[in-house]
Amino acid sequence: MFLTFKKWTALYVLLLAALFAGFALILWQGSAVNASKNLALAEPFVLVIDPGHGGMDGGAVAEDGTTEAEINLALGLELEDLARFLGLDTEMTRREDVSIHDPAASTVRAQKASDLKNRTALVNAIPGALLVSIHQNSLPQARGVHGAQAFYNGGAEALAQAVQEALNAAINDRPKEPRAAGDGVYLMAHTEAPAVLVECGFMSNAQETELLKTPAHRTRLAVTILAGVLRGRSAPPEDPGKNS
Ligand SMILES: [Zn+2]
Repeated sequence: MFLTFKKWTALYVLLLAALFAGFALILWQGSAVNASKNLALAEPFVLVIDPGHGGMDGGAVAEDGTTEAEINLALGLELEDLARFLGLDTEMTRREDVSIHDPAASTVRAQKASDLKNRTALVNAIPGALLVSIHQNSLPQARGVHGAQAFYNGGAEALAQAVQEALNAAINDRPKEPRAAGDGVYLMAHTEAPAVLVECGFMSNAQETELLKTPAHRTRLAVTILAGVLRGRSAPPEDPGKNS
């Protein structure tokens, strides 16, 4: 796939932002020696990108028939492009419109359960994984509701906070708060690695669906999510006293 001029500009801006974050951290730490000790970015990690749903499971469906699964995949692949451009190791849970369930699963319900189990096993088998699961929200009873929100598992509250701050700055017209994914979200509850699930927008909001269908908006989302992840990774350990 050829990158457009706009895309290169976005990549360039992201690269500058990442470099700036690195230098700012070094200055903030007071000395290069401390920074090299504390710079979490120096620890290698594998960015595992999970475009939610796929195959027989389209996820949320917009009024115009656009499926969450197709938006998630387009955005996930974009995120992968950007991450590789920055030299990060990446893995994808899917790169096509498929569900990754076992062939033995016969009902849709069993296929969905098997798919989530296999995604989880895939992430848990990758040493140094950091999971970003891409989803779209839907609230048909309140079609005005829109915006992007980050959810976290046990090890990723600070990471989700950084991602949410980036989303609030670049995407949302009203700030949202990151939230715990809870036990009801199988992948998040069973992933051992730090995991952030981003509900990037609402398929129930026609305007936001139109935006999500444009490559420019998806590029903006990908850049924003990745910038949040990189900043969250480089943040100093949280002060245990300030937990809310
Ligand atoms: Zn979803």
